[in-house]
Amino acid sequence: MNIRTQLTLRYIGIVLLVLFAMYLYLGAMLKDSMSTRITSELEIQAALTREFLIEKLPAKGNFTYAAIDPLINRLGKTGKARVTFIDLDGVVWGDTERDGQALREMDNHLKRPEVEDALQFGSGIRDRYSDTTQTEFRYYATPIYRQTSPNGAETLIGICRVALPMKAVNTAIDNLRRMVLLASVAGLILAIVFSIFSTRIITKPIEKLTQMTESLTAGDINSRVPINSKNELGQLSRNFNLMADRVQEQIDRISEEHRRLETILTDMGEGVLLVNGASEITYANPMAISMLSLPNTYVGKALIEINRIPELQTLLQTAEQTETVAFAEIRLGNLTEPEAEVTVVPVATGEEEEYVVVIHDVSKERQLERIRADFVANVSHELRTPLTTIRGYAETLLSEDATRTKTQEQFVVKILNHASRLSRLVSDLLELSRLESGDVELKRTPCHLNTFYEPILDVFEPILEESELVLKWEVSDSLPKVSVDHQLFMQVLVNLIDNAIKYTPDSGTITVSAEISTSEAFEGANIASEEIIVHIKDTGIGIPMESQPRVFERFYRVDKGRAREMGGTGLGLAIAKHIVLRHNGRIWLESTLGAGSVFHVAIPYTDV
Ligand code: ADP
Repeated sequence: MNIRTQLTLRYIGIVLLVLFAMYLYLGAMLKDSMSTRITSELEIQAALTREFLIEKLPAKGNFTYAAIDPLINRLGKTGKARVTFIDLDGVVWGDTERDGQALREMDNHLKRPEVEDALQFGSGIRDRYSDTTQTEFRYYATPIYRQTSPNGAETLIGICRVALPMKAVNTAIDNLRRMVLLASVAGLILAIVFSIFSTRIITKPIEKLTQMTESLTAGDINSRVPINSKNELGQLSRNFNLMADRVQEQIDRISEEHRRLETILTDMGEGVLLVNGASEITYANPMAISMLSLPNTYVGKALIEINRIPELQTLLQTAEQTETVAFAEIRLGNLTEPEAEVTVVPVATGEEEEYVVVIHDVSKERQLERIRADFVANVSHELRTPLTTIRGYAETLLSEDATRTKTQEQFVVKILNHASRLSRLVSDLLELSRLESGDVELKRTPCHLNTFYEPILDVFEPILEESELVLKWEVSDSLPKVSVDHQLFMQVLVNLIDNAIKYTPDSGTITVSAEISTSEAFEGANIASEEIIVHIKDTGIGIPMESQPRVFERFYRVDKGRAREMGGTGLGLAIAKHIVLRHNGRIWLESTLGAGSVFHVAIPYTDV
């Protein structure tokens, strides 16, 4: 049932209810007032009739029809009421409705209730249907007393009864009923007409709102409602329009963002895939499609079905299990140079977990790196022989007892020094190239850190003595062994201690200590907790804050002049870092300018 019908029925209901209540109330009122009026009229007429009859009636015992009935008829005509006179035996001597024989045949009236009441209580009143007149009457009876002796004694001589028809009351009630019926019909018509017009005011805007929401649902975002009033419905319509405006703005904004994102994803050099929890591809950008040679029907297909790369699957599983970003370098068969950096990022979209897979083709970078490394290695290799020759000749020249000037000797010493520095640089470069290319194979052997003490002392004793520096070796015998390539790890220690000596003024102290770390003690640690950390601490010049992150870069030197003077190549820390990384270890430093530096080397010992 729609609102209009509901409202119309309610209006009709209210009108009918009011009319019915009015009918009941007015009916009762009317009946009551008319009845009171008739009763009072009857009382007056009965009193007058009584007074008249006291005067005119013959003496008791002399009653005759001929004497009484005409009297009664006269009274009835004057009062326009039915008048009856009954004697104490119940004989009716006069009645306005009966004459002659009919009067004589009237039955005994002593048992009429109003007559009985009159004799008992002084007056009697009854509504009754009269067989005589075939209508409903109200009867009022009152006894008639006459003064029979001069001392005032009264004798009852009969009863006079006056009656008025109740027709007037009934007619009035009938009229009222007719009036109410008429009013109901009129009210009904009015209610219908009124509800049609009034509900239109309410339902019209609601219909418009309904149409609008239907259009919005169907996708017509431009649909709006006309606002024709300032009432609550007008306000509602206005709010709906505002809401639609906001929705449109949001959709426009989202569409714009979507378009922008689509452009970025289409034009970007990286392949981007979206994979759901069941490893099914839900999206792939053009680059990803070409990188993985995805078929047109890739959406909803499992990644493993299309591209059988186990590493990719493993990476996805890692991201799924750890719920964090997973990264790996993977060889993707479909790429021309099959090297790619793949990052899997878990993203929560609503209920489901999704994964963004970003494939970055690094084959070109790798190729360039290889070319550069090859070039450095080749150049270094080519320089090695001439440098050895130059050094050899210079050394020979110096060792010969030939006569030469002081300047000539200085020149030869300079040639020898520079040639030696160059050869150090060349061998460092070659070492670095070897490490970078991954050609160096680790010959791991379990050894205790203290086994490095003697060889180190052999290398540095002369210089330590010369510079009055103290080398403290504080490594406990109880430490477990580490599995390292002895020669390479020795180089790490040598490079670090060499630096400590170089950059510590005379009379300083260099301390080598070690400990086991069972927790991720240092920020950035991403490897297992069980490692041995070696600390090489000096009381030297320190490294400024801004240079600290860069000292492991090749050729980076804080103070170029000083480093060169010290015979540094700028490759020592880069080599140390590469060796440590090859051992799956970490290297980092802490330093305070002017107070000294500590270099930390962490090597996992779990696989010893
Ligand atoms: P170099 O051969 O010049 O020493 P490194 O790679 O070994 O090259 O070191 C790079 C730079 O880091 C050095 O030039 C120096 O400025 C700085 N450095 C390294 N170790 C220390 C140290 N213990 N104290 C102060 N500065 C250092």
